[in-house]
Amino acid sequence: METIRTVAWMKEKAREARQDQRIIGLVPTMGALHAGHMALVERAKRECAPVFTSIFLNPKQFGPGEDFSRYPRPLEADLEKLTDARVDGLFLPDATEIYPHGFSTYVNVEGLSDRLEGKSRPGHFRGVATVVLKLFEMVLPHNAYFGRKDAQQARIIQQMVRDLNLDVEIVVCPIVRESDGLAMSSRNAYLTHEERKAATVLHRALRAAAGEIHAGVRDSLQLQRTLHKVLEAEPHARVDYAEVVDAESFAPVVRLSKPAFALLAVYIGQTRLIDNMLIAPAGEEWRVEL
Ligand code: AMP
Repeated sequence: METIRTVAWMKEKAREARQDQRIIGLVPTMGALHAGHMALVERAKRECAPVFTSIFLNPKQFGPGEDFSRYPRPLEADLEKLTDARVDGLFLPDATEIYPHGFSTYVNVEGLSDRLEGKSRPGHFRGVATVVLKLFEMVLPHNAYFGRKDAQQARIIQQMVRDLNLDVEIVVCPIVRESDGLAMSSRNAYLTHEERKAATVLHRALRAAAGEIHAGVRDSLQLQRTLHKVLEAEPHARVDYAEVVDAESFAPVVRLSKPAFALLAVYIGQTRLIDNMLIAPAGEEWRVEL
């Protein structure tokens, strides 16, 4: 696997692949790779060649006081995983490569970026959209792979692609979970032994809401009450938000009628975790995807 550290070299590789009529896949990450990331890579490998993975810990999507400085950076282990997965190229730029002195242009996806994650983390989605657009310009992917774990992020990227007429297909992949249901995340490494056990409460809350949907509940306030009840019973948990929103607009829903997400952001000790469940109509019934 080739490691590509400069924008100029990345663009050269991308242009070459395009000239050869090859289908470029991109998996953007911040590193500290786990099975969730690798599922995106595997999907990309099935559908594209070459596949590029980027590892870029994007300072512009972290707020002051967030975990940028302590975010895990296990580069050796990441290299091994990507090599084993036969990724063609790792794009590993420095922050100064991406944001040279004087950088001053940002992408702001209005509306969608202001709610939920965007409200709790001001400026976060501006940083995400900006870096993802830049990555698209550097890697020229036909397909770019994102996880449903970050459902609002995936939706915002799709909106950016639509609004800016970008020629890239956004592929959203399912959430990969630990055997006890905890959604895989690089941030799970922050959890103490006791917090790690408590962290399963996110999945338990979503499962409780799923059970209610299967039992016929359609009132989203009722579902939200259930989410809060389960989460608040866990002493290590502090709820940031637990909401049922429309899957397109991310606006609150009153009663289930179209695809929706149940979205959670919960502090377990000092660690902020997110998780979600897709709720979609299936004939007369509703199905949920955890
Ligand atoms: P990150 O390194 O956290 O920026 O994540 C890079 C990509 O991996 C994003 O598209 C995430 O949504 C996706 N991802 C992270 N965790 C998971 C997971 N547990 N399952 C599926 N995708 C994930």
